[in-house]
Amino acid sequence: MKLKTNEISALIKEQIKNYKRDIDSSDVGTVITVGDGIALVYGLSEAMLGELLLFPHDIYGLVMNLEVDHVGAVLLGDDSLIKEGDEVKRTKRVMEVPVGDALLGRVVNALGQPIDGLGEIKTNKLRPIEVIAPGVITRKSVDTPLETGITMIDAITPIGRGQRELIIGDRQTGKTAIAIDTIINQKGKDVLCIYVAIGQKNSTVAQIVDKLKSHDALSYTLIVSATASEPAPMLYVAPYSGVAMAEEWMHQGKDVLIVYDDLSKHAVSYRELSLLLKRSPGREAYPGDVFYLHSRLLERSCKLDDKYGGGSITALPIVETQSGDISAYIPTNVISITDGQIFLVTDLFNAGQRPAIDAGLSVSRVGGAAQTKAMKQVARSLKIDLANFEEMKSFSQFGSDLDNATISILKHGEALLEVLKQPQYNPYPLEKEIFYLFMAKNKYLDDLEKNKINSYLNKAYEYVQSADKSVLNDIKEKKEITSENENKFVTLITKFQELYKEEN
Ligand code: ATP
Ligand code: MG
Repeated sequence: MKLKTNEISALIKEQIKNYKRDIDSSDVGTVITVGDGIALVYGLSEAMLGELLLFPHDIYGLVMNLEVDHVGAVLLGDDSLIKEGDEVKRTKRVMEVPVGDALLGRVVNALGQPIDGLGEIKTNKLRPIEVIAPGVITRKSVDTPLETGITMIDAITPIGRGQRELIIGDRQTGKTAIAIDTIINQKGKDVLCIYVAIGQKNSTVAQIVDKLKSHDALSYTLIVSATASEPAPMLYVAPYSGVAMAEEWMHQGKDVLIVYDDLSKHAVSYRELSLLLKRSPGREAYPGDVFYLHSRLLERSCKLDDKYGGGSITALPIVETQSGDISAYIPTNVISITDGQIFLVTDLFNAGQRPAIDAGLSVSRVGGAAQTKAMKQVARSLKIDLANFEEMKSFSQFGSDLDNATISILKHGEALLEVLKQPQYNPYPLEKEIFYLFMAKNKYLDDLEKNKINSYLNKAYEYVQSADKSVLNDIKEKKEITSENENKFVTLITKFQELYKEEN
């Protein structure tokens, strides 16, 4: 039998057209090399960026690099179990974490698995760790305060629900303390809290859990922990997992506070991964997209419009500086992404001015819109008074003869600084902050000895509480100092001054 050439070619063409592969090699790949938490996988031509891959021993990997003939994945587990030549399967899913109320009061790792030994977390919902942040139309500007309970912050750098306020400073300046006090202060305020520990010591995280528990704050708080002892990919993933868990609550119309402690270590873990993946290093050896690393995270914090449930995510990212240098790479990046910063200074901390907030370099660009009227009434001139004081202080060091005006500015400034000192784990309710600032603003404290101011204030507050609680309750309720209340305050304080004089 003779076939004509064109018939043969037609047959072959037909066969090629109908040819089906049994195994789709785009879904299964092979490990080329593995080490340092990174695996290079041959094949997987269809893999997506951010997709989860399944390695042997149920270890998952996250696709980070798409190359011509291989993909680079970071391993979310023990890389010593993976060998060259191992089979890798696509899951066709991006990474997801469990979300929901069952997580409250728990400590989970970056994958949302419990690590507190309290058993399984029963959730039936997952959320992808990477989503696009809500658009402009769905948002609304901040209008509700997120009270930190720290007088200085509530007065001069107020935070609104849905805002992103950076806490920045050197090592051991009280950064974590501010975040934890803020969480403690949310008790009874309908704010769910998430503390994401990135690259902290295990012992630090354990202490924080203990403190939250002893202040009754664990019931509304979730801790996502990726400690320094874990592989870099876990540190990289942790904040995204945390915000995915926050989003579930935000979309239910709830208010959430999320703390990222801290993003410097997050950037370092990302730098480590990027260098291992052979991405080219840029400034300070960070990869070129390190800004995007934090911007896509922090953009997900927002206040949703009422039409979209009205929920919010307030973010308190923390960044560590070296020798107070806020103009370094990561600090300037995060400063430009957030709506303001609280700058903590070692000198102030060592001088006993705690919280060690630098009033001049700390700002809140949007929180003023959410500040209560009462706070505005007592805090309006605070920043200027402090600035005047700083200026006069350096000036007064040169001469001994000071005129009365200068002396009164100095005395007032010193009294203000005393009022703004606040011990750790002791957030104040709004009415207490207002009362303290009222005393300071109206110069009731300027003539006292510096080291007596705090006990004087405490006694005065106790007196007002016992003599006539109605003023404080009224301020708490109306969030405003009416002229009637102001008069009551003045009468009460005058009475207290008399009593105090008799006592001493
Ligand atoms: P690190 O850089 O190690 O993370 P940090 O900046 O987070 O440090 P903290 O751990 O919050 O600092 O605080 C450092 C120390 O200062 C702690 O021992 C803490 O108890 C103490 N401290 C913080 N705030 C206050 C405060 N307002 N009053 C007194 N002590 C404080
Ligand atoms: Mg800390």
